[in-house]
Amino acid sequence: MAGDSVDVFGLTPPGEGAHDLELTASQVTRLETADIVFYIGDGFQPGVEKVLSSLPSTTKKVDLLQELTVVDVIPQLEGTEGETDGEVLASGKDPHVWLDPANMATMTRSVASVLSSAAGLDADAIGAAANAYVSELETLGAEFDAGLANCQSRVLVTSHRAFEYLAQRTNLQQVAIAGVNPDEEPSAKSLEAIAKFAAANNVSTIFFETLLPPDLANVIANEIGATTDLLDPIEGFSQEDLDEGASYVVAQRSNLERLRQGLECS
Ligand SMILES: [Zn+2]
Repeated sequence: MAGDSVDVFGLTPPGEGAHDLELTASQVTRLETADIVFYIGDGFQPGVEKVLSSLPSTTKKVDLLQELTVVDVIPQLEGTEGETDGEVLASGKDPHVWLDPANMATMTRSVASVLSSAAGLDADAIGAAANAYVSELETLGAEFDAGLANCQSRVLVTSHRAFEYLAQRTNLQQVAIAGVNPDEEPSAKSLEAIAKFAAANNVSTIFFETLLPPDLANVIANEIGATTDLLDPIEGFSQEDLDEGASYVVAQRSNLERLRQGLECS
């Protein structure tokens, strides 16, 4: 954002999810020599917070969650036994804040405001870049609002519970197959309950995710004669995606297109 004047170093490696990131020794060294560290706190990445707590007060540590309204993890669909451990913040809230473009805009402003006051950086250039990105995010948000206003179904069946912020913004009901923790296998009884609910709510597409196998989505889709499609929780781009110019806005526009098709929106 700040052009050539800031050396940006991301901690989550390409192709890996952001939850419960383990840091390598060289990443710890990079953290120890950083001037400013932006992170998502509340136990989202305990390994990062542990290192941060050992850094001197001269390192500026900015928890981007501070400016956001963090929502509760939604209760599982009745008749399913989804777990609520794993993939939740230490406070028990839902960490997937970035999937609402409005939260990305707020985090952009937070980053810009911290960078603008850092010594040796061009505050005007930072402000201008932030404003341009925020307006891009606002446009994206408006596209979601308009694009998902009139749909045959308002039920979003996903493989893991990543899309609550987007669902709340656009007035959809998220039903997650794997509960909060994607590593947990739901029972046949849970899958049955989700299939029944989906069929009763005009669901014609079951969504699965980039970093997860589609098996369970296929089970439910087969049962109710639905198709499956891919949604990206934007928890990590692969190196290949990055080489092809992947970005948050591009990934979200693709999510919107798939949602519009899958929920049969006009
Ligand atoms: Zn997640």
